Amino acid sequence: MQNPNNESERDTILNQQPPGQTIRDWDRAHVWHPFTALADWEASEPLVIERGEGCYLIDDRGRRYLDGVSSLWCNVHGHRHPALDEALRRQIDKLAHSTLLGVTHAPAAELAHELVERAPMGLTRVFFSDDGATAVEVALKMTFQYFRQKAKPEPQRTRFLALGGGYHGDTLGDVSVGGVERFHAMFGPLLFPALRAPAPHCYRCPLGLKRPDCALECLGAVERILDEHPGEVAAIVVEPLLQGAAGMIVHPEGYLSGLRALSRRHGALLIADEVAVGFGRTGTLFACAREDVTPDFLCLAKGITGGYLPLAATMTTEEVYSAFYGRAADGKTFYHGHTYGGNPLGAAVALANLRVFDEERTLESLQPKICRLTARLRDFTALRHVGDVRQLGLIAGVELVADRESKTPFAWSEQVGAKVCARARHEGLLIRPLGDVLVIMPPLAIRLEQLDEMLDVMIRCVRSVTEGADE
Ligand SMILES: *Cc1c(COP(=O)(O)O)cnc(C)c1O
Repeated sequence: MQNPNNESERDTILNQQPPGQTIRDWDRAHVWHPFTALADWEASEPLVIERGEGCYLIDDRGRRYLDGVSSLWCNVHGHRHPALDEALRRQIDKLAHSTLLGVTHAPAAELAHELVERAPMGLTRVFFSDDGATAVEVALKMTFQYFRQKAKPEPQRTRFLALGGGYHGDTLGDVSVGGVERFHAMFGPLLFPALRAPAPHCYRCPLGLKRPDCALECLGAVERILDEHPGEVAAIVVEPLLQGAAGMIVHPEGYLSGLRALSRRHGALLIADEVAVGFGRTGTLFACAREDVTPDFLCLAKGITGGYLPLAATMTTEEVYSAFYGRAADGKTFYHGHTYGGNPLGAAVALANLRVFDEERTLESLQPKICRLTARLRDFTALRHVGDVRQLGLIAGVELVADRESKTPFAWSEQVGAKVCARARHEGLLIRPLGDVLVIMPPLAIRLEQLDEMLDVMIRCVRSVTEGADE
């Protein structure tokens, strides 16, 4: 195809795509959708997203939808943000891709520098990959190799301690430390065995306790496991402050710093998976900062490019880096890499993403939105089938239950969460549930009135699905 050099020629070429029905037919015939029940998908009318604009997605029939889950927890400053678009255009005029194996490029070096400037103190080394799953996989493998190569090797430290309900991505290492039964049970025979502590889930406390009267006994459970396996645990793996895929489970205050203290005391590393909570969603750029924690690994993806391109980073310390430091003949090399890791286009947009945080004072302007969300969430607690409402920053989960008193869930076969979301789509709001937990995770750029609109629609849809009350 020739190089389109003016706007109208470019439009002509872009408009040569097949008509909507053909797209739907081809999708049905060939595209295998992730995390999707195939028969349900084929029975449904597929939504074909064509364009984005701020916090809205627009389908091929011109209908607009508020992007209530940030296109799966990625988008930060809105779709087609001029500064991010411009950064991408500028970079593409120079270089789309070159490897980090044996050579480097400016966007990767600059991004590493910027990340180190902003991350918790002491995280000075950045390993780039391309997805959340790879960011965590890298941390797991680095941890394992670190204990074999550190100044005083501890090769018996081979075990990982993870939390019930944890989610760290879908590659086998990540699934091994994962704890979402529905996603992970199938692959049991393929996995390495992880040590598992109960999730600090206050609404359904596995220890049967109640906040705020408890004394964070959930930390005691972690300590017990560390005591039972002296010198064996290489790292504790955690989604700091909030477990996303488990159902937006907000950890009690002090849990993360407690884990940090325990891991130090027991000689284990701490892997903080901020793939979901990083880049402002909790109100600070990184969640770890809220408890003044510097982990040994900080895993970043999703929001790192503002939701534009796949890019990920595993940040770590000089201490870890130094264990890998040597000439080829020393045999200390980390033999791991992903072909597109640190891709220049992704890195250039990631830099622009950070700059927009500064220029638009994104974190400051987030505060009123967080307060509005808190206020509006109270409207949910009055609903008959809302069991729990959990919020951290601009993230929230609304758990629907059949019976509030006994906290009895709806039957899985009822698909109540999915029904609410399907209904919301008809009203121009795109959300995706986690079972019967409704997820609220809009782009940070959402405006107050858009947030109101989102919550109004959700409340209407919850009522109409669970109470049969049409307003
Ligand atoms: C989404 C997610 C991942 C996986 O990221 P991918 O980019 O989908 O591989 C890992 N950890 C957490 C906490 C996540 O939310």
